Amino acid sequence: MTATKESTASVGDSIESRRYNRIKRRLGLADFVVGFGLLVVLLATGWTGTLRDFAERGASQNYPFAVFLYVLMLMLISKAVGTPLEYYEFRIEHRYNLSNQKFRSWLWDQCKGFLLGLIMGTIVVEVLYALMRQTPQHWWIAAWLVFLGLMILLAQVAPVVLFPIFYKFEPLENEELKRRLIVLSERAGTRVRGVYKWHLSEKSKKANAALTGLGPTRRIILADTLLDHYSDDEIEAVLAHELGHHVHRHILKSIFVQAGITLFGFWLADQVLRFAVERRNMFETMSDFANLPLLILVSTVLSFLLMPALNAYSRFNERQADRYCFQSVATVQPFISSMNKLAEQNLSEKTPSRWVEWLLHSHPAITKRVSAAETWARSHT
Ligand SMILES: [Zn+2]
Repeated sequence: MTATKESTASVGDSIESRRYNRIKRRLGLADFVVGFGLLVVLLATGWTGTLRDFAERGASQNYPFAVFLYVLMLMLISKAVGTPLEYYEFRIEHRYNLSNQKFRSWLWDQCKGFLLGLIMGTIVVEVLYALMRQTPQHWWIAAWLVFLGLMILLAQVAPVVLFPIFYKFEPLENEELKRRLIVLSERAGTRVRGVYKWHLSEKSKKANAALTGLGPTRRIILADTLLDHYSDDEIEAVLAHELGHHVHRHILKSIFVQAGITLFGFWLADQVLRFAVERRNMFETMSDFANLPLLILVSTVLSFLLMPALNAYSRFNERQADRYCFQSVATVQPFISSMNKLAEQNLSEKTPSRWVEWLLHSHPAITKRVSAAETWARSHT
C-alpha cells in the first residue's frame, strides 16, 4: 500500500472518512495476522498436543467430551488473544461517533457471541471428528454433505433465531411503505414474505438494509436508523435494491458458490492432514483432534486467497440488484441521494482506491453506483 496512491484515489472523501477506513482495514489485517499467528504457534510448538493431552485427561478418555474440552480451550485462548483488538474496534466506532453502544452492552454481546460460537463450533467439530473416526478415507465428502445441510439450515434460521440474539426486530408498520413494496414486488412477479424494522439504533448510528433468510424466513430488514432519516422515496429505492437480490435469487446462488468452495476446501484439508499424518508424523491419526488448528489454517488461507474473487462475485450481484432498482422505481434520483446519505452516515469511502475495492469491498464504490444510475437514467429517458 502506498499512501500517495490512496490519497490521490480518495479525492472527494473527507479526511475523517479516509482515516476511519484506513484504521478499519488495519484492524482487519491485524485480526487476520493474530488468528493466523495463533494457529501457526500452536502447531509449530506442539502446544496443540499439550492441549489435547489436557482435554483427554479431563475427559477421562471419553472422546466426544475430550473434543469438546479441546474446542473450549482453543476458543478461550483465541478469545483472550483477539479481545484487545475487538475492544479497540469498539473504541474506534465511538471515536468516530458511529456507535450508540454502551460498554456493558458490548460486553454482553461478546459473551453471547462466544457462547454461540462455542455451541456451533462444538457441533461442527464433533461431527467432523466422528466422521474421521468412522470413515478416515471418505470423511471429507460426508463432512461436506453435513456442512451443506448446516449451511442451508443456518440461512433459514438466521433471521428468526440468530439475529434476534443481538437485535430486536418487528414487522414494519408504515402502511405507505408496505403498499409501495407490494406494488414493487407485484411488478417483479414475486412475493417477499415480510419487511421488518431492525432496531439497530440501540447500538449503532450507521444505517443498513438487507435481504435475509431462505424459503419461509426470507425477508427484507430495514434499520430504524434508515427508516427514521430517509424519505419514503429513498427507502423505496433501498427496498427495490433488496428486492433485486430477491428476484435474482442471490442468497440461493451464494449458497451454491459456497458449496463448491467448501467441497474443494474439505478435499484440500484431507490432503493436508494426510500429508501431516503420513509423511510428517505430526499426528498419530487423522482423528487426532490436535490437528484441528491445521484444519482451521487450511480454511483461513483458502478464504483469504478467495476473498478477491468472492468480493468480485458479490459486487456483480450488487450491480444486478442496483439495475433492478433502476428499472422498478419512477426515477433514480432517490437512489442517488440515498447512496450519498448512506456513505455519509456510515463514513464509507465513496472513492476507495482501486486495489482496496478489488480486494476488500463486497459492494461497488458509491461513485460507481451513482454514475451507473445516471447512465441508466440517460439511456432510458
Ligand atoms: Zn445489496
